[in-house]
Amino acid sequence: MKKTYYYYLALLLFFFIAACDPTTREATEDRAIETEEKEIKQGPISLVIHGGAGTIKRENMTEEQDAEYRAKLSEALEAGYAKLESGAPAMDAVIAAIQIMEESPLFNAGVGAVFTNEGKNELDAAVMDGKTRDAGAVAGVSTIKSPILAALSVMDDSPHVMMSGTGAEQFAGEQGLELVDPEYFFTQSRYDALQRVKKREEEKDRSAALVDFPDSKFGTVGCVALDKDGNIAAGTSTGGMTNKRYGRIGDAPIIAAGTYADNETCGVSATGHGEYFIRSVVAYDVAAKMKYAGMSLDAAANKIVYEELVEFGGSGGFIALDKAGNITMPFNTSGMYRGYMNEKDSPKVFIYKDEE
Ligand code: ASP
Repeated sequence: MKKTYYYYLALLLFFFIAACDPTTREATEDRAIETEEKEIKQGPISLVIHGGAGTIKRENMTEEQDAEYRAKLSEALEAGYAKLESGAPAMDAVIAAIQIMEESPLFNAGVGAVFTNEGKNELDAAVMDGKTRDAGAVAGVSTIKSPILAALSVMDDSPHVMMSGTGAEQFAGEQGLELVDPEYFFTQSRYDALQRVKKREEEKDRSAALVDFPDSKFGTVGCVALDKDGNIAAGTSTGGMTNKRYGRIGDAPIIAAGTYADNETCGVSATGHGEYFIRSVVAYDVAAKMKYAGMSLDAAANKIVYEELVEFGGSGGFIALDKAGNITMPFNTSGMYRGYMNEKDSPKVFIYKDEE
């Protein structure tokens, strides 16, 4: 009994001394401040991707194809999200997610890019950092293995925003980026698609061949991410449109048309009939509607995709997120490969119109 009494007394004394000891108290207070700071800095993280909009219908897909697309989209989402979770900047997440899709023949970017009228692959890509509004882009390149990395290098390692063709390839080589034989991008299915479009072109007029081909899938890839510090980054990579000619460049590498990011408003990556997206300045218009008209991300996105682009004749869609981590993925085609991941949700991927 007595023993127990002394034991409790000793324990009490110990806690009393520990509480009075300034070093222990400081350490506890420091920890409290640290946690508080972490809580203040640690905003929501969020990631959204697309693998292109277009004529993508359930009835035209086999079960295997459907599963393959979903698996690759999930892989890209998880790779990007892992970066954000580890505390990496939003741009790292964007690059990680896009590179996975560039390396997959499923998408019209990197391997699997569509063919030009001359039977070549000419790739476009862009990135934008929402914190600094720095941006980089490459257009019409045929030998850079990862166009999105080249776009990043234009942003980080040069005083310019956009480089094209052989100049961009020379720059990429000088920066130590991997260059490949143009054959690297070849896929039989895209080549066959070009032959079908050309055949149709012979039968119909030229613009119809470019736009209305029944199984045309745009297939561009893009990603927008929000990191724990509240920074937004966006990126887009594409082979452009089947049967394009004369060094045609689409909206993807044009900052404000197909790609845009500003921490104050949102980040955007678009996919669709580039000519219309350029003329509508789509990506910047989402930010502008939020900034100047006080619209929410969703309201701005819906107005552009379902009203303005439709009236204009532009088919496609985009992915976007704002500084609170809200996500939107509108499109006015029959499908868009798309998905997102945030703290609440494990990877969510969608393909067709009737899914959500
Ligand atoms: N927007 C791209 C372009 O016009 C095509 C796409 O989204 O797949 O080049």
